[in-house]
Amino acid sequence: TDAPLYADLAGDAEVSFEFFPPKTAKMEEVLWDAVQTLAPLAPRFVSVTYGAGGSTRERTHATVTRIQRETPLSAAAHLTCVEASRGEIDEIADEYWAAGVRHIVALRGDPPVAGEAFRPHPDGYASAADLVAGLRARHPFDISVAAYPEAHPEAASLAHDIDNLKRKLDAGASRAITQFFFAPETFFRFRDAAAAAGIDQEIVPGILPVSNVAQTRKFAGMCGAEIPSWMDRLFEGLDDQPAARQLVAATIAAEMCRRLYAGGVRHFHFYTLNRAELSFAICHLLGLRARPVAKAAAA
Ligand code: FAD
Repeated sequence: TDAPLYADLAGDAEVSFEFFPPKTAKMEEVLWDAVQTLAPLAPRFVSVTYGAGGSTRERTHATVTRIQRETPLSAAAHLTCVEASRGEIDEIADEYWAAGVRHIVALRGDPPVAGEAFRPHPDGYASAADLVAGLRARHPFDISVAAYPEAHPEAASLAHDIDNLKRKLDAGASRAITQFFFAPETFFRFRDAAAAAGIDQEIVPGILPVSNVAQTRKFAGMCGAEIPSWMDRLFEGLDDQPAARQLVAATIAAEMCRRLYAGGVRHFHFYTLNRAELSFAICHLLGLRARPVAKAAAA
């Protein structure tokens, strides 16, 4: 491959980090440590997920507004259409706007019962495209949407899914962030197909550093991403070797990022799972260097 060596990377990559809202005080500490470790890499934004069925409404809000208020980072709130009326969602959006949050990751969300078809709330937004249009009509948010390099499991075909992505972007989103994937070619094929369909907005690869294959496979089964068999082979025999597992995990993800970089990618979105080390190490290999963080704007 003609991908540059790590030592030759220009340090011109940009990154963003995704967190989930903590459930306990202990988890909150872990999250905050991760935010503080990753903040010096000056991410474009950090985002906070919204639990299935809207279950983390308050916790997502608290986490996003705390990041926005207490750090110099730009916080993005994930928001889904599940189990909520338009009025309820519009209210959440208004609260974010009032708190100074300017970026929403707009999603449809998964059906409350896994495997069942998605049924919109009778007064709700029917799809992510619908939500994007609703948000745009309310406030001039910067909006990101989801994309699926291996197609969303409910999509009739990859072409249909790309049409849907185009609808979301045409409705007012400015970028798409992808589901995780483990082969750069998967991303490049998708990016080419999107471009051929007339999509010219940025498609940001979602990078999941994997250090636990079994856990990842459980999750991947639900979201249309395949775990290749070489991944099992690379982690074989490492169940009782957590340090080696971390090194292997960083190597796999960094290699993929290096090849994506060679293919022109300059923004990488990391699924951190609220742990900083792997994402930090991969960013470092990509040429990013920690810079001093400005003091919090307001306590
Ligand atoms: P949509 O874009 O609305 O699409 C859903 C499916 O319906 C697709 O197959 C699409 O092709 C099809 N479709 C939509 N409209 C039409 C139409 N008019 N005609 C035909 N087909 C149509 N989930 C959470 O609960 N919380 C989160 O915080 C969260 N964050 C995520 C972040 C990222 C980056 C990604 C990639 C996913 C995230 N998800 C999250 C998961 C997401 O909610 C699920 O994948 C969900 O099933 C689909 O959401 P969507 O926004 O992609 O839906």
